[in-house]
Amino acid sequence: MKIIREPHEMQQTALTLRDKAIRIGLVPTMGAFHDGHVSLMRRAKSENDVCVVSLFVNPLQFNDPADLARYPRNEAADLEIARSVGVDILFMPSVAAMYPPDAQTFVEVTRVSQPLCGGRRPGHFRGVATVVAKLFMLTLPRRAYFGLKDYQQCRVIAQMARDLYFPPDLVFCPTVREPDGLAMSSRNVRLTPEERRAATVLPRALELAQACFAAGETNPTVIQTQVREHLATEPRARVEYVEVVNAQTLEPLTEIAEPALVALAVWFGDVRLIDSVMLTPPKPNPAPPAPDLGDISDIPHRTNVPS
Ligand code: AMP
Repeated sequence: MKIIREPHEMQQTALTLRDKAIRIGLVPTMGAFHDGHVSLMRRAKSENDVCVVSLFVNPLQFNDPADLARYPRNEAADLEIARSVGVDILFMPSVAAMYPPDAQTFVEVTRVSQPLCGGRRPGHFRGVATVVAKLFMLTLPRRAYFGLKDYQQCRVIAQMARDLYFPPDLVFCPTVREPDGLAMSSRNVRLTPEERRAATVLPRALELAQACFAAGETNPTVIQTQVREHLATEPRARVEYVEVVNAQTLEPLTEIAEPALVALAVWFGDVRLIDSVMLTPPKPNPAPPAPDLGDISDIPHRTNVPS
């Protein structure tokens, strides 16, 4: 595995590979690897000629400096995991290299960045979009891989890529969970054992939302209330938001007649966890096939109007 720290070296390497028609699969990460990251790496490896993983704790996407300071970092273990998965290039730039003091260009995706986490973490998605745009230009991927665990991030990146005509195919991958259902996250290591046990209330609450919907409930407010009430059974859980929104626009809806997202952000101590599930209404049955009337073209026109 090659480790590259200099952005220009990364870009030069990517250009050389592209000239040889070697396809790069990119997995952007902030490190502290777990099996969710590994699932993206394996997929990128299997679908491309070269797998590039970026490891960069992006200060621009942290609205709270304390959150940045305590973000888990474990470079030695990350190198080991990346190597064992067969990652070809690990790109680990410094903050100074990615954001030189004279940098003046940022990427802002407007509407889809505003609801859910957007309103609560000002500047977060501007930081995400900016760093992903830079990573695309530095690694020139044929495909880039993201986890649906961060659903709004996927929507923001998809919108940016579409609006700016970014060439890579975007591959959105399912959330990998612990055996008890908790979505894997680098932040989970910061939970105390009691908080870790309490955090299973999140997948249970989302399962409840799915069960309500499967039982025929299509009123988003009813589902939201059920989820909130379930979260309230866990005294360690401090709810930041629970919302049921249109899965495409992330805007509120009055009835779940199209794919919806149940999204939540909940604090346990000073650890903020997010999770979500999709609720997808069944497609209406296709119109029944027209009865076969045989060839009626040669039946003489008749009318039942008496002549
Ligand atoms: P992060 O290092 O947390 O920024 O995550 C890097 C990438 O891994 C992002 O695309 C995340 O959405 C994805 N990811 C994080 N956790 C999971 C998970 N549990 N399952 C699948 N993908 C994940």
